Amino acid sequence: MDQLETLRSLSEQMELEHAEESHPEPSKPACFTPKEQRAVFVHPAQLPNGKKVKLLKTLLSSACERDCYYCPFRAGRDFRRASFKPQEFAELFMKLYQSNMAEGIFLSSGIAAGGANTQNKILDTAEILRNKLGFRGYLHLKIMPGAEKGQVWRLMQLADRVSINLEAPNTERLAKLAPNKTFIEELFKPLRWVEENRQSHPASQGWNGRWPSTVTQFVAGGSDESDLELLTTTDWLMKHVRLKRAYFSAFSPIRDTPMENKPAVDPMREHRLYQASFLLRDYGFDLEDMPFVQDGNLPLATDPKLAWAQQNLEGRPLEINKAERRDLLRIPGVGPKGADAILRARRAGKLRDLTTLKKLGIVTTRIAPFILLDGRRAESQIVMF
Ligand code: SF4
Repeated sequence: MDQLETLRSLSEQMELEHAEESHPEPSKPACFTPKEQRAVFVHPAQLPNGKKVKLLKTLLSSACERDCYYCPFRAGRDFRRASFKPQEFAELFMKLYQSNMAEGIFLSSGIAAGGANTQNKILDTAEILRNKLGFRGYLHLKIMPGAEKGQVWRLMQLADRVSINLEAPNTERLAKLAPNKTFIEELFKPLRWVEENRQSHPASQGWNGRWPSTVTQFVAGGSDESDLELLTTTDWLMKHVRLKRAYFSAFSPIRDTPMENKPAVDPMREHRLYQASFLLRDYGFDLEDMPFVQDGNLPLATDPKLAWAQQNLEGRPLEINKAERRDLLRIPGVGPKGADAILRARRAGKLRDLTTLKKLGIVTTRIAPFILLDGRRAESQIVMF
């Protein structure tokens, strides 16, 4: 295999990894030669700061000694493995970077000769990129199961984002997916180390003066877990280790794995989990507010915020001129920006009609059933639109 074929082999299955709001379909920039277009899986992605970049999502090696049931790279699965040495990968990436074909990296790896050994290879790659080749762009580095505390510290100095995939919400569920991973020791502890490092060194020693953010990913539906279990763990991580975001990847069976006959999970479940996790993170919702049904899952048919509002606000609409910010955020159609816009507009006078709210960027058809405008039901104004 030449280097571009190796890169293709290592990056083509990375759409299973959700990160940086990357589009699942890799881009095929017109400036690529046909060979490059076949070889380079660069995903348009939005970084945490909103910047859009061409993100190369790849493994350093697809050789793995672990046997996670759901994973295409599991040990013993018959396919052609490929690997880069750190120097080789770093130099290849810099060529792509200098040709404007890729601007950032999401780097993971299969595990060979232990997690710590593999982590060293990821660290070596990042060190070469940052310190020898002068790369100042975006680096999202995976923490390997089995990594050591000192390695996590060094990763934090080199990366813009670090992550470790929990895959399942707790020890019992993980055993159904990945019998050779330990939930607490290998996956959970590193997330705590990241937060401990942030707290013990509030002045970042990261490469750009900021500590990296932390994310994780779950295989939604892979271990027959409930949404309640997934969101309980997500909520705890957001509150206690400043998890920036949980990614949910709806389980989809991979041929020639022990889970190949397990039915795929409805992608709508993934969507509902994202909506619920944003409500927990940005909208002041608690787990108790989530409209779980008896099996502990969210209804697939309804947006969880709408379901909450139908249960709690339809009979008791909120007066838009008096509601506090935290209550405004509970209304369907009002996000953090919308709530702030309403508060600003209120300073100039009473809000009496939906037209004014529409001008503030509010989706009035969503908000109307749940609010009063100067004492009057807003729904009656909907006919005017
Ligand atoms: S350790 Fe990672 S790459 Fe290896 S089988 Fe498990 S999920 Fe796949």
